[in-house]
Amino acid sequence: MSRPILRFAPSPNGRLHLGHAFSALFTWRAAETLGGVALLRIEDIDRARCKPEFDAGIREDLTWLGLTWPEPVMRQSERFTAYRAAAAQLGDLLYPCSCSRTEVATRAIAADPDGAPLYDGHCRRHPPAAGAAVQWRLKMDEALLQAGVPTISALPVDGTELGTVAAVRAADPLRWGDAVLVRKDTPTSYHLSVVVDDAAQGVTHVTRGADLLAATDLHVLLQRLLRLPSPVYAHHALVRDEDQHKLSKTKGSPSLESPRDSGTSAADIRVALGF
Ligand code: GLU
Ligand code: ZN
Repeated sequence: MSRPILRFAPSPNGRLHLGHAFSALFTWRAAETLGGVALLRIEDIDRARCKPEFDAGIREDLTWLGLTWPEPVMRQSERFTAYRAAAAQLGDLLYPCSCSRTEVATRAIAADPDGAPLYDGHCRRHPPAAGAAVQWRLKMDEALLQAGVPTISALPVDGTELGTVAAVRAADPLRWGDAVLVRKDTPTSYHLSVVVDDAAQGVTHVTRGADLLAATDLHVLLQRLLRLPSPVYAHHALVRDEDQHKLSKTKGSPSLESPRDSGTSAADIRVALGF
């Protein structure tokens, strides 16, 4: 078997917080356990929210934690051609939708696994007018008919026994409904880019937080539709604050910068996070 390839794929829309540090340390330790390599990938498709200074800050924080990665680093903002090609490959499985968030929310009678309003398929029955700004959605039922029910290979993540045999479960992408794969504001989406790039980089093991567990159901379906290999998945529990909330950039969780500036060492952080 060839060398395992793992990746840590942050979005440069803020500084890293302790949750990211945990995810990075988890990924590098898994790479070590598996005798593989951990790559850094910058997920900056959101041109409005991503900033070069956060990109530099991420590298600085990871280096401070003692982590290293091969260069050059893949940046998703340089990969739009590949994403367009993947969307084109999906062909008629995609359809244009001009609905605003408000329109989708007003008509929704259920939620997707992220808690967002589930799309009701309106534009599949009533195609948008020519020239309207559109996003492209997956015809989920047809995609499943074409691909069959995909499976997810998942490694247990308790402790560090990442060498154990993967457990396989059937994916349930239907709960995402007709997911947006090409956004209005950028010619791709998180789901499409991550699948295209994991394959392009030969990623064999995806290690990430449990907040992306449900997204995996959609990712393995896209891998089948695009005839890409499926990596093995390991989702770790999320670091929580004292009130048991998950940490997030938008809620202003403290970045790694602050303990660092107040004299906490990288070794202290590693120990606090269990590494
Ligand atoms: N870029 C994503 C994030 O910052 C992670 C992508 C992934 O690990 O699949 O949450
Ligand atoms: Zn629509």
